[in-house]
Formats: sequence, structure tokens, C-alpha cells
Amino acid sequence: MSDAPELPKEEEEEREEELTPEPEDQSDDSSGEEAAGNTEMDFLRNLFSSTLGLGSADKVLDELTLDGVAQYIKSGKCKNILCMVGAGISTSAGIPDFRSPETGLYANMQKYNLPYPEAIFQIDYFKKHPEPFFALAKELYPGQFKPTICHYFMKLLKDKGHLRRCYTQNIDTLERVAGLEGDDLIEAHGTFFTSHCVSFCCRQEYNLDWMRDKIFSEDIPRCDKCSSLVKPDIVFFGESLPVRFFTSMKMDFPRCDLLIIMGTSLQVQPFAGLVGRVSKGCPRLLINMEKAGLLLYHQRVPMHRP
Ligand SMILES: [Zn+2]
Repeated sequence: MSDAPELPKEEEEEREEELTPEPEDQSDDSSGEEAAGNTEMDFLRNLFSSTLGLGSADKVLDELTLDGVAQYIKSGKCKNILCMVGAGISTSAGIPDFRSPETGLYANMQKYNLPYPEAIFQIDYFKKHPEPFFALAKELYPGQFKPTICHYFMKLLKDKGHLRRCYTQNIDTLERVAGLEGDDLIEAHGTFFTSHCVSFCCRQEYNLDWMRDKIFSEDIPRCDKCSSLVKPDIVFFGESLPVRFFTSMKMDFPRCDLLIIMGTSLQVQPFAGLVGRVSKGCPRLLINMEKAGLLLYHQRVPMHRP
């Protein structure tokens, strides 16, 4: 303020009017001189109200607590809940978190003689050396683990007619085991549920049973038609996310009336950027063991298909 040049009183008043945005929804009656002094406070109040959904006119949650969220779900106004979930909802099922240095998957990779741990999920490496991936797949095969309370909570939301969709980063298929179906799910990083021949000319699809037989007989899965490798439909480094991720998010997030984020630190893009795609008044509930990524505070991330 001390740097501002001094202005004659009238001019200063004019400038203040120019700089102070008018509060939204202000009625014609309140535009008198009395209101002028409070304009700035009103503006801030309206801004916080609309951002946090606390305004009296458009109040969404009665209180910013889990009880407030539960009341909102029960109120009947909450028909389009979106869940965003990550590795944290499956660790209590016994599935190691890929990125956790001590218990994580990458810490146990020495036995596969990889040039570097991430190579096991790189598409170019896989095409030349598929053995380490299938050895790991046998170790972590879906079906050996049971869903957790988080997975069944989402099934409950579905059964009660509240769930619009679950966006998961997990490839363990535990959402499906808990009872969510294909249409309820966006498996952003793919799934073991289906597999495809890697040859672009063929792309023959194989189901879970076919892949399971190959993996457990320690037979490298090859296409019955063209003998190329067959890979579970999980997204490897160097591959695009499924098309449905991009088409569904444009439909789902603007209509969302409660976003529940569980077990993800929101560090992997473009998944993490989804949190900024709901409307301003939509409450967002984050449940995670650790602090989640900076993206929560820099939400409007441009999202292009890689
Ligand atoms: Zn093929």
C-alpha cells in the first residue's frame, strides 16, 4: 500500500470502484452508499462461500465433517457420486504399493535381472523380454486377494443408486471382485480382466481364464492366431490410457455432486488432474494415509490425451 501513488480523494474513490468487483447476486436495493464500505468483505465472503459450498443460498454440506458428508449422501440430493481410488485401498488386501520403497514392488525386483526396476512395465522391454513380467504376474495374480472395506463401500454406493462411476488406478480387479461391473468402472491404468495380442494387425482378445492358465503353467502367452505375445490390458509405460478414460471424464465430472478420493496421493497424471474437473460447488472428500499431491492446490491442469 505504501508504494501506491497518492491520489486526490475523488480520484481515489473512483479507482476503488473500478478495482472492487461487485458481489454476485447482489440485489438492486443494496447498491447504496452504505454497502460500499463492506463491498470488499462481501466479495471475499461470496468467494469463500461459493468455493467451499457454504453459502446460505447454495449450501451443499451442513458441516465440513464426515457426518456432514454422510447427511448429504442420505439427503437424496446426491445421485452422482464419483470415486477416485488408488493403491492405498488395496494395500490392506496384501497387494504391495508399486511406489512404496520398503514394502513396494520395485524393492523386490533384483531376482529378475532387470536393467532397472521400471523396465518390467515398459512396453518396449516387455516385447523383447516378457518373462520377468509374467513371473511377477504369477506372484501377484488377481484372484489371490480379497477386496477391502473400501471396495465394498463403493459397491454399497452402487446398490443404493448413488454411484455414477469409480475411477481406479489399480490393476488388481478388486473393484470387480467386490461387485462393480464394467460400466461402473474406469480402469485408468488398465486391467487384467481382458488381454490382447500385441500385434497391431491381429489384436485378438483373450479372457481372464485363458491368461490365468498361461501364467500359472509358466507358459509365455502367445496368440493362437498369429503367435505374437499376448499382454493383459494393463497400461504399460509408453502406452496410452484407455479411450474410455478420456470420453467418460468429460461426461462424468461436470455432473458430479460428490467426489470421494481414497488411497491415492494424487501424483500420477493425468489421473490426479481429475480432482479439478468437478464444479465449484461439488464437495470433495479425500481419505489418504499421506498428504496428497500439490495438484490439489493447482487444480486446473490441462488434460490432453498422451
Ligand atoms: Zn495375434
